[in-house]
Amino acid sequence: MQNQKEMLSKLKFSSLLDLALFIPSNYDDTTLSDSLIIGEQITVLAHVESIKSLGNKLQINLFLPKFKRFVTATLFKVTPYHFATFAVGNELFIQGKLTLFGSYLQLSQPKKITTIDKIIPKYKTTLRNSEILQIIESLISYESLKNEGLNEVEIQTILMLHFPKNLNDIFLNKTYKSDITKTLKIIEAYNHFKKLKGKRVDFPPSMILTHDTNSFVASLPFRLTDEQLSVIDEIKLDLSNPLKAAKRVVIGDVGSGKTIIILASAVMALPHKSILMAPTSLLALQLYEEAMKFLPKSMSVALVMQGKNIGDYKEADFIIGTHALLYKDDLPQIDLVMVDEQHRFGTNQRNMLSHLASRKDKKAHILQFSATPIPRTQAMMDSALVDVSLITKTPFIKDISTHIISKEDFSPLLSHIKDEISKKHQVLIVYPLVEESEQIPYQSIEEARGFWEKNFENVYITHGKDKEKDEVLLSFREKGNILLATTVVEVGISLPRLTVVVIVGAERLGLATLHQLRGRVGRLGLKSHCYLYTHNRQNERLMKFANTTSGFDIARLDLEFRNSGDIIDGTMQSGQKFKWLDMANDEEIIKKVMMRVENRLI
Ligand code: ADP
Ligand code: MG
Repeated sequence: MQNQKEMLSKLKFSSLLDLALFIPSNYDDTTLSDSLIIGEQITVLAHVESIKSLGNKLQINLFLPKFKRFVTATLFKVTPYHFATFAVGNELFIQGKLTLFGSYLQLSQPKKITTIDKIIPKYKTTLRNSEILQIIESLISYESLKNEGLNEVEIQTILMLHFPKNLNDIFLNKTYKSDITKTLKIIEAYNHFKKLKGKRVDFPPSMILTHDTNSFVASLPFRLTDEQLSVIDEIKLDLSNPLKAAKRVVIGDVGSGKTIIILASAVMALPHKSILMAPTSLLALQLYEEAMKFLPKSMSVALVMQGKNIGDYKEADFIIGTHALLYKDDLPQIDLVMVDEQHRFGTNQRNMLSHLASRKDKKAHILQFSATPIPRTQAMMDSALVDVSLITKTPFIKDISTHIISKEDFSPLLSHIKDEISKKHQVLIVYPLVEESEQIPYQSIEEARGFWEKNFENVYITHGKDKEKDEVLLSFREKGNILLATTVVEVGISLPRLTVVVIVGAERLGLATLHQLRGRVGRLGLKSHCYLYTHNRQNERLMKFANTTSGFDIARLDLEFRNSGDIIDGTMQSGQKFKWLDMANDEEIIKKVMMRVENRLI
């Protein structure tokens, strides 16, 4: 007998519950029928009354003693086997679909069966059915399922699906009964959590970090929101845990105030050193400026970028930089590693950074920050592998109205833009492409720029491949009225005077991207507008998007439209498809299972 692992890997399964959840695609039911229902498959004892050979066909007249009825069946491509099987006077068990022809009962696709009163599960696999049946029988049992941590109901459901006694227990009108699907969802979530937990490896921290943050928080020019404070508390617990180094992802919408949390964490690390990596020079610079503005003057901060450093990073308490950090071989000992906008980095880059800061079997604490809202369900699912904090509110109530517009709305849009510029506000117009293209029925930057430059002053232009992108954005921030761009601004600097964003060909973009773009405006609470310019005003996705500004709602909408989630970390199994779970609607189930897994600490 092969061992369990070999059997599972034969089916490419990694856990017993994978196998348990691999339920039959259908069943061969040879239970003798109690009644004759037209249109249904029946299984009956039949007596061959007479036969008639018609060329290649054989017509059989059968008597069903239990029902005292006659039924005819026609066989095609007959062979001597058929003549022997259906010889007049023979009695046999037969299965077929019952139909009505005039007033005669007929059996279509009749099949002789040798076993009766059995339900044989059929599995969709490349193995022979008998082989998978054998594997299931040897591995799936009350005890083995109990060992996996399933409860009574779950165990009975799985046993029933693989070893059914009566298909009426399983199906109602040919679909699974609702309590069965619900149980399968629960087991699926449970299996997922269990696997992730098994993958999580924790190391002791290189240093316990406990510096107080009260005076830092009190020194800020604004009150932190409750969510910011509670994330800071969560991080405090992480950094003071002597058993495991922190591994947390903080996810919050653009403008939800994550920088302050980063700075508070750097304060907690004192007198030890921390490092922060940002995806672009511009962001690194902006973070550096904010650090200088908010951190206590006694704290030394250094900036490391390609070709440009500020301060001495070997001495600083807090080192901020771009991926240029990864290539420094003379970094001091660092006990807290942070990554901002972590989704912009590859897994490799993030691993390199944490590697830089680990010593033997001890690890620096790692905090990652992301503005890609993922559905709450996904965050819960991922929380088995890393700790996840969600920030769902922004410190300012963002007052953004979203409008779906078309060609005919262009002139009111123009006057609105003029109006905003006269108030010293700024406008961002996002085009799908830099150059003209046959494929896309919208203008490109190159086609549109003439118009804007002719009618407005201080029009700036940038795009993904623009080498001067950072400089353009910086001078636009100071002097610009209108910025024409592609979606590169998706991750970008804060432009506090930006109050209008126009997204051309909006229906072509994913909701997550639209959300990021819309998040550029109104960052400091100024009344703002987002115009979705499209040839299709009735686009349902855009209409729903226009009705909400919460990143978490949008992530959920995205799920509904795409039926898959965003990925918070390349190393995770995120975005994976579940067979039973519906990430958009099964939050309650996922929450319950998560709590169960946490309490058992598997
Ligand atoms: P993000 O989460 O996108 O990184 P930031 O940290 O850049 O957001 O915060 C956006 C703006 O909100 C910044 O100007 C920041 O100083 C400000 N801010 C952060 N927290 C608060 C708060 N509690 N009250 C008021 N303003 C805040
Ligand atoms: Mg940020």
